[in-house]
Amino acid sequence: MADSSVADVDANALLDEANSTSEAQGEPQFTLELNQDQKDIRDWVHGFAEGVVRPAAEEWDEREETPWPVIQEAAKIGLYSFEAMGQFWADPTGLTLPVANEELFWGDAGIGMAIMGTTLAVAAIFGQGTPEQMGEWIPQCFGTADDVKLAAFCASEPDAGSDVSGIRTSAKYDEAKDEWVLNGQKAWATNGGIAEIHVVIASVDRELGSRGHAAFVIPPGTPGCEQGAKVKKHGLRASHTADVHLDDCRVPGSCLLGGKEKLDERLARVREGKKAKSQAAMQTFEASRPTVGAQALGIARAAYEYALDYAKEREQFGRKIVENQAIAFDLANMKLEIDAARLLVWRAAWMGRNGHKFENAEGSMSKLKAGEVAVWVTERAIQILGGNGYTREFPVERMHRDSKIYTIFEGTSEIQRLVISRAISGFHIK
Ligand SMILES: Cc1cc2nc3c(=O)[nH]c(=O)nc-3n(C[C@H](O)[C@H](O)[C@H](O)COP(=O)(O)OP(=O)(O)OC[C@H]3O[C@@H](n4cnc5c(N)ncnc54)[C@H](O)[C@@H]3O)c2cc1C
Repeated sequence: MADSSVADVDANALLDEANSTSEAQGEPQFTLELNQDQKDIRDWVHGFAEGVVRPAAEEWDEREETPWPVIQEAAKIGLYSFEAMGQFWADPTGLTLPVANEELFWGDAGIGMAIMGTTLAVAAIFGQGTPEQMGEWIPQCFGTADDVKLAAFCASEPDAGSDVSGIRTSAKYDEAKDEWVLNGQKAWATNGGIAEIHVVIASVDRELGSRGHAAFVIPPGTPGCEQGAKVKKHGLRASHTADVHLDDCRVPGSCLLGGKEKLDERLARVREGKKAKSQAAMQTFEASRPTVGAQALGIARAAYEYALDYAKEREQFGRKIVENQAIAFDLANMKLEIDAARLLVWRAAWMGRNGHKFENAEGSMSKLKAGEVAVWVTERAIQILGGNGYTREFPVERMHRDSKIYTIFEGTSEIQRLVISRAISGFHIK
């Protein structure tokens, strides 16, 4: 005992010293306790999710339409705005963004995606644009509280989903006019065709595969950028998903994110066989994975809470169903998995925000775990509600449908495992 208390004192002294050194160096302290700003934002988003999003969830899922009035409400309170997104992103711990997403998607995932779908395009502009491009295009992605707009990020194509190197949409430079001419078909674009701003990933050199990709902003109303078929979906039905057709779509040279000089330099490096920085689509997905994981967590937590309350009320065989270990242990496991997934999401968000490289694909781990937890937890929630769980009278059925996309978009579970296994092994696992 005496030895261990000496060790404790020494450890505490060391910890204090380490903390004061890093404090002196101005490094943020590691803590899992949210600060007051983060708690305020969490409670603010939660209030909106509970008061506005949840009551509207069933209606917009059934209508399978973009819930413009709800997005407008979000814009009115400043939640749907580039200022709010900037504030969430600016938090040096990286946690505000996942915390806000979890709360919003706890309200409803379809409406949550209708509100947050814009941020994928914003992440692309933010990640690859010049400061001037960010200043010009990011505010336009949101519009204003009186005139709300959406944005779309278009990478996937009918024959290029997991394999983005298969992208066929081409961008050719017309030097005489300083314009890029885009041709091709994009598939499954969230907000595709109804967006004010489309960010399109196109190939400027097919021979270079994904290393020959670049990202372009398509300004509002550009001729040759049209919505194709709207997709009817299993879940996330309040979020609009559609094909986007690009037919001789001409955009000014300034719409190439990052600028032509940077692109030419990158292509020259690739052609010389040198390593180039990660590709346009991949960069965007890397940055957004922990946030997407947080959305899945929100769905999982909502289903778990609903199932827990139900199990404490519903009686069979003269007792509450939660008094059966079979049900109680399921609920314990649901809570356990959700909390474990949240730790992975927070770790990846913190790493991403603080410039730590995902050496072991921590971003992929967070999205993979949270997505699979959401599918499993929502399925268990249906089971706990029995017949009621299977009906549209109770929300866990919708939550289960909504959760499934989280093992598919932004990299399927198989692709996340591929990324993780390559990172940990150093082998090019196929
Ligand atoms: C609702 C919704 C919204 C979307 N929003 C957007 C958006 O806003 N922007 C955008 O660009 N895209 C979007 N997508 C597209 C989405 O990112 C793709 O559907 C996803 O990347 C998977 O591609 P795929 O559908 O072509 O599947 P495929 O790539 O054809 O995969 C089919 C199956 O094969 C497996 N597979 C493929 N390759 C391998 C491999 N090497 N090893 C093991 N298994 C493999 C996959 O894991 C999957 O199980 C959206 C899709 C949906 C449904």
